[in-house]
Amino acid sequence: MLPLEELYRRIDSSYSQAAEQVGFSCHGCDGEKCCTVDLTLHTFVETAYLLKGVEMLEPRQRFDVIQRSMVVLAAKSDDPAGPGYRNAPCVLNVNGLCSVYDYRPMICRLAGIPHQFRRPDGTTREAGGCPRYEAEILPLYPHLRIDRTPFYRDMAEIEIKAVRTAGRRAPSRTIAEIIANEVSSEA
Ligand code: SF4
Repeated sequence: MLPLEELYRRIDSSYSQAAEQVGFSCHGCDGEKCCTVDLTLHTFVETAYLLKGVEMLEPRQRFDVIQRSMVVLAAKSDDPAGPGYRNAPCVLNVNGLCSVYDYRPMICRLAGIPHQFRRPDGTTREAGGCPRYEAEILPLYPHLRIDRTPFYRDMAEIEIKAVRTAGRRAPSRTIAEIIANEVSSEA
C-alpha cells in the first residue's frame, strides 16, 4: 500500500468513527456544499492519485469530465466571481456522487464534520461542519471535532519526498484546472 493510501485509510477510519459516534451520514446529500468548484489541491501526491482515478473512468465519463472542466474554466475566465463559476459544483460530482470516490483527496474525506488543527506556530484553528451537520448534529454534540493535525503533518511528510524529486513545490490548482491540463480524452 502506498504511504498516501495508508494515510487515507487512517483518515477514513477516524472519520467513520466520529460519524458513527454522533450518527452523522452524508447519505442522500447532493454534496454540492462540500464539492465546490474551487476545491484546490496543493500537493503532487494527491494530484497524481486523483488523476489515477480519472484515468480509470470509462472513456465517455472521462470525456464528459474534461468537457465540464473546460466549461468551468471558461466561466472562471469570464467572471471568477460570477454565478456561472461560483455556483458550479466540482466537475467530478455527478448526480450528487463523487465519480472518483476511492481516489478523492484528503479534504474531501474530512468534509462535513467540525475540525481543529494545530499550526506550526502553536496556535489552533477550528472550523464547523457542513449545513446538515450544523443543523442536525451540532445541537446534540457540540464538542466533537476531528483533530486534523496528524493528517496534515503526515501529508506534508509524504509530499516532501515528491517536492525534493521535482525540485519545486506543486502548483496549487483546482480540480477542473488539473483535469483540463492533464487528462486526455484518448482511451
Ligand atoms: S473530488 Fe469528489 S468528493 Fe471531492 S469535491 Fe470533487 S466530487 Fe466532491
